[in-house]
Amino acid sequence: ERQATSNSDIIGYRKQHLGKSLSLQYKVPIKMVRGAGQYLMDQYGRKYLDTVNNVAHVGHEHPEVVKAGQEQMALINTNSRYLHENINALAKELLETLPPELSVLHFVNSGSEANELAIRMVKAATGERDIIASEVGYHGNTNMCIDISSYKFDGKGGKGAPEHTHIFPLPDAFRGKYPGKNTGQKYAGEVKVQIDKVYAKGRGVGGFIIEPIISCGGQIELPEGFLAKAYQYIRKSGGLCISDEVQVGCGRMGSTFWGFQLHGVVPDIVTIGKPLGNGHPLAAVACTQEVADKFANGMEYFNTFGGNPVSCAIGAEVLRVVKREKLQAHALVVGNYLKKELIAMALNFPIIGDVRGQGLFLGIELVNAKMEPLAAQTDYLANRMKDHGLLMSIDGPDHNVLKIKPPMVFSQENAKELVFYLKKIMAEDFMQL
Ligand code: PMP
Repeated sequence: ERQATSNSDIIGYRKQHLGKSLSLQYKVPIKMVRGAGQYLMDQYGRKYLDTVNNVAHVGHEHPEVVKAGQEQMALINTNSRYLHENINALAKELLETLPPELSVLHFVNSGSEANELAIRMVKAATGERDIIASEVGYHGNTNMCIDISSYKFDGKGGKGAPEHTHIFPLPDAFRGKYPGKNTGQKYAGEVKVQIDKVYAKGRGVGGFIIEPIISCGGQIELPEGFLAKAYQYIRKSGGLCISDEVQVGCGRMGSTFWGFQLHGVVPDIVTIGKPLGNGHPLAAVACTQEVADKFANGMEYFNTFGGNPVSCAIGAEVLRVVKREKLQAHALVVGNYLKKELIAMALNFPIIGDVRGQGLFLGIELVNAKMEPLAAQTDYLANRMKDHGLLMSIDGPDHNVLKIKPPMVFSQENAKELVFYLKKIMAEDFMQL
């Protein structure tokens, strides 16, 4: 019989034998033992409403997704050098959601791998290696991904931008370089500045990578007109445009299936991750025929696990569930409702400086009357919400943005619950922290 281990034993073992740069959430870490829909359960049977996990896209341990994985696991799992229907089935499900220009897929196992491959494609297709990316952007944990992630190299332990990475200011219309309305053209101008910097070094532009809503930046919605103009500048320079949809993709935006579609553009490369496997490691890169042809320069692309029958069974089922349960339309209705409620709340709680986002990908930015970030108060709110059984995460360069990105089955009742507890806790005396 298995002996139960105490939480302090688990923590002790981790400290001794797991990498020190792994972190734990909350001052008193939680041990989760079950997931179902938008809920998690800890070892004491305590239930939490999860507004953090956009990986469990169609709900934690969705029965149809679990079944698809279990059934295929019992039959066969191999690499993609053998024929199998599942890889084509997943490809067909994905292509149905993408514009016709993006017609070729490569399957990988994580968002980092997807962006890593996207950058390799850029290099192969353009012959250039200079990449333009946003301030506070995050694109993954591999060497190349860290090299294009200002969130990491400009943060603790980082050494600043490498020679071939060019960072433009966070296109934040609330507290950024160009606040206010109609700032899209100004921020796109900053992308142009970086293009000219590459030219000045006697080199050409490889590519441009950005999330449609900058998650680690604090749920920053790209200002109107920004992406279309930035793409125009990049393409004129001969560069390729990558949309990192690892966080926002697969219907979460509500009004569109992919984030780039909010901006009326078609990227050359789209990277897809977290939600596609609903918790199973599965990711993908979609690209144009032209990019795919240039990437296939004779060198084989082999990926031991990418596109295996188990992962593909899971991914195809996730996309079918999104359709069957109409989760994109649901994200639009519930997200709009929640956003409206939060905006209304801001009238009574002036520390809510901004409410932003699309569908079920929202952010609440907390500031004082001088527009200074309230990090300690944001931390207080997240911890008090946890005391009431609601999990929320914090992000943004100043750690003052509460993020809301729950499993897509998050209901209107859940939204009401969230607003109820936020109001209750915001009425507490915590401004002196
Ligand atoms: N891109 C974005 C926008 C992400 O948020 C992440 C993960 N947080 C990644 C890429 C990397 O994905 P993974 O952790 O699956 O490698």
